[in-house]
Amino acid sequence: MSSGALVLRDGVAFVGPELERRPFSTLRMEDGLITGIDESVRGFDGLVLDLAGAFVVPGLIDCHVHFDLAAHPAAYGHWSASPLTRSMTCLHNGLVALTKGITTVRDLGCIDHLVLDYAGRVESGSLIGPRVIAAGRPITITGGHFAQYGRVADGQAEVRKAVREQIGAGARVVKLMATGGISSPGDPTASTLTQEEMAVAVEEAHKRGITVAAHAHNRAGILAALQAGVDSIEHAAFADDESLEAIISHQATLVPTVSALNNIAPDVGIPIETVRKSLQARQTYVESTGRAISAGVRIAAGTDAGTALNPIGGLVDELEMYCAGGMSWLEAVAAATVNAGALVGGGLGVIATGRPADVIVVDADPGEALTTLREPLHVIKGGALVDLPWVRQTIAEVRAVAS
Ligand SMILES: [Zn+2]
Repeated sequence: MSSGALVLRDGVAFVGPELERRPFSTLRMEDGLITGIDESVRGFDGLVLDLAGAFVVPGLIDCHVHFDLAAHPAAYGHWSASPLTRSMTCLHNGLVALTKGITTVRDLGCIDHLVLDYAGRVESGSLIGPRVIAAGRPITITGGHFAQYGRVADGQAEVRKAVREQIGAGARVVKLMATGGISSPGDPTASTLTQEEMAVAVEEAHKRGITVAAHAHNRAGILAALQAGVDSIEHAAFADDESLEAIISHQATLVPTVSALNNIAPDVGIPIETVRKSLQARQTYVESTGRAISAGVRIAAGTDAGTALNPIGGLVDELEMYCAGGMSWLEAVAAATVNAGALVGGGLGVIATGRPADVIVVDADPGEALTTLREPLHVIKGGALVDLPWVRQTIAEVRAVAS
């Protein structure tokens, strides 16, 4: 077998940015890339996988996770766990993600640079996991959302330095806190970083080709972040119509993470303030996401996985909520592939010649129902078939330490 060469035979692929269904006789991958669809494979000596009519979808992308968190009720308590434990959590979450067909994640912040280290190890091939585009530490203000965990920066000079620190440590996305949060003390609709501070962050990131994600829940925070030039708005639980329209006019992307609150309940160990704010916000959040979908905002899927009772792998639950909010099944698939890929970069999220060979094989048409995405038959990352039985065995072995 030649190294890293794979041919899929006789399936139906969702091809190009329109996810067009295309029956194929061969789909060839070499050196990490898709190298041909229905081209001759005469003389090919790699691995051949007969799909018997199964469906091939771009590998799923979760645009908002916290990979070193273990979805404990008191989620952020895990940031005081030992480095070994948190490393095992990353390993565990990465393996679980692969079994769910998630071949790329965007990690939007942790207490230190551990996830950046993990991301680098996966990229170099020394660990098995999905591609990780990581932010390092999220940037927030004194007393702001995540101030006890993130990189506190007040004023433009400090924000610039904070951004440089993350990029210097290997960040490939920058995370800014534009408003308060639901899972931290204080008002989730209060603005935190100013437009001027965020503009400096965007300037610093964009000149190095790095995107910026802003956590923002309401009108003032969303508008300030957009005017500063950020690439994605995260959450937008209390967005009004004008701020949703502004996401469109600024050609930004919304990452809703609306499923993150699904399992929040009293008396299961979640801090009472988080429970109170979550239950208060839940319905508004669902409606806000639905209005974004109706308005035609470009949506990329994200779950906020790792937070309270929100374990990694719930991406299809998130997509089904988009469908309940008005998306077609195929639009929901695009949210986790084409749109997510456009946000994370690197040519990901689209099946086409020359693109990274990240695909999953599922047994039914996801344009008819998403549930088939929950248990992919095969997961292929960078043109290599993931050994799912080995991955499942390893998950079982590391779980006790990782949690
Ligand atoms: Zn988050």
